[in-house]
Amino acid sequence: MKLKIVKYPEPVLSQPGEPVTEFDAELATLAEDMFETMYAAQGIGLAAPQVAVSKRLTVIDLSMGKDPEQKLVLVNPEVILREGRQYEEEGCLSFPEIREKVVRAANVRVRAQDLKGNWFEMDGEELLARAFQHEIDHLDGMLFVFRMSALKRDMVLRKIRKMQREGTW
Ligand SMILES: [Zn+2]
Repeated sequence: MKLKIVKYPEPVLSQPGEPVTEFDAELATLAEDMFETMYAAQGIGLAAPQVAVSKRLTVIDLSMGKDPEQKLVLVNPEVILREGRQYEEEGCLSFPEIREKVVRAANVRVRAQDLKGNWFEMDGEELLARAFQHEIDHLDGMLFVFRMSALKRDMVLRKIRKMQREGTW
């Protein structure tokens, strides 16, 4: 089932998600619904707070649905290692049409649980490292605009306010 993606400044986006404690069918269904929602919106990552569920769960698929092996579900994830630096453009499904460069670590290692509650570790570089950091930020209530330079952030927030006034946001 496709879910509704909430946009900034919906308060749920700024709240830290609750740790997941029940690894049940409901959680698996939520993850599947999040994949469906993300593919429909042509995104590569989606965090539960973006569908108004304040839980530490995110899905990522760099292949955008083309390669089932790239489907990643991260439950209660954390970044446990960061290396290097990259400065690339990012977007966010909660900020339609906004794309700006954000500083991120070049390589990261994440530790997370799967849908059954088993812990695993995974390394990511380049785009996958960015997706890990962007999505895990969402679970901490941190949005990518607040990772931009102050100048760019102000520009983006002004643009959003203008669109809100015009009824196009
Ligand atoms: Zn996002």
